[in-house]
Amino acid sequence: MGIGKEIAAQLPLAQGQVWQRLKEQLQSIGRDPVQVFEFAHEFLVCRNKCSTLFVTALNYLSQEQLGALVALAVPICQEDGISDTAAGDVLDYVCRPFPELLHPYIETIFEISLQERYGKFEQAWRGLDRARIEIFKTRLLSGKDTEADEQRNHKKEFTISHRLFMCLMNTRDPETILFALQHARTHKITPPWEIDEDYFQRVHLADVGFARKGSALVSIYPNKPYHFIFVRGDGFPQEDPRLKSVLPIQQRFRFGGNATLTPDEPYPFSHILTLDPIPAGVHVTGLPRLVLGAYITEINHYGVCFYQHDANGNPQQKIAPAEFVEVERRYIDYPFRETTVLLAPTPERFACGEWGDPASQFRLGGEPSWIQNPDVPVCPHCGETMEFLLQLDTGLPDTDPDRKDGEVYFGSGGMCYVFWCDTCKVSSYFEQCT
Ligand SMILES: [Zn+2]
Repeated sequence: MGIGKEIAAQLPLAQGQVWQRLKEQLQSIGRDPVQVFEFAHEFLVCRNKCSTLFVTALNYLSQEQLGALVALAVPICQEDGISDTAAGDVLDYVCRPFPELLHPYIETIFEISLQERYGKFEQAWRGLDRARIEIFKTRLLSGKDTEADEQRNHKKEFTISHRLFMCLMNTRDPETILFALQHARTHKITPPWEIDEDYFQRVHLADVGFARKGSALVSIYPNKPYHFIFVRGDGFPQEDPRLKSVLPIQQRFRFGGNATLTPDEPYPFSHILTLDPIPAGVHVTGLPRLVLGAYITEINHYGVCFYQHDANGNPQQKIAPAEFVEVERRYIDYPFRETTVLLAPTPERFACGEWGDPASQFRLGGEPSWIQNPDVPVCPHCGETMEFLLQLDTGLPDTDPDRKDGEVYFGSGGMCYVFWCDTCKVSSYFEQCT
């Protein structure tokens, strides 16, 4: 028996030290996709319950290998269900990076997703072809789910109409999205506990990367994704091993460090990142470079902060909060410690990773890894929805003069999101946490 099969046989009952040993064994075969596939295949066909080690192993598999697992997982899910099963984990895992692997089974995927009280697998609808989209549009229009919907409404579950709506939104096809939004408004498919219908529509739109501009849709996540590689190691995260094959762009970029925006400021201003030059595929126009910086204290103690940039790309003055906030000295947040970063094009597979995915912790472009509902700021000058620029996780070393091991925290340990209005040259910063 190969080592992959051996691990699969032992894992379901493993605890404590045995589990630890299996984890180390799996890590050691991580570079050998044949062994990892053997493990995952065996673990899946034995119809095991889900396991974090199993999900970790999926990270090492190619798209083709994952496709082979999907073909096995779909019928297992039909029989064993999706919650708490390794088969359910396979479908859940491939949804975001490889939705196309689920397209051949999309109608079955919809049926098995109904086992969950709330939505499930909607990301699988991304990029679905027109003919298959029609199946779900027709079902939504037919109204044949109305009776089942009433029961689900009664049990405070998402209705079938609501799920169909979410699936159609996730196609990311503008025409289909406009159809779904219009249908939702006319037929009141907003769940009864969602009070504000406009908010409901805005959140669902932002979730799939769009905002309304008049009667049309505009993309709010237009930027090519690059992840950060911190050059100096002390206290800064190491590069995720899965991304090591990607070559960074040639330039080095200055990250962190103390700066000053306003004389007599009561807390320090942090330089965050200087994009010089602005990397290809990033929608920042008419500036020689872009300097990002903020009062981290205000991100944590105020809300959404906005800065006006000058013609050289420097933050010139803050727009909000207009005044400095009152904060006790011990709650002051210090700037990031200065270092150098490389930016490497993030493979599409990791470009919209969820919060906690190591490839998404520090990223320019791509899609935000929201911790809470999508919450896209509106430019205070022009009133248009801003575009996502970058996200930063908690835990980087800071410059607190009283603490050698201080770290920059966003909220209780969340993320900072940076958005940009290219028309007005305005940046915005805010955090979300659990
Ligand atoms: Zn604007």
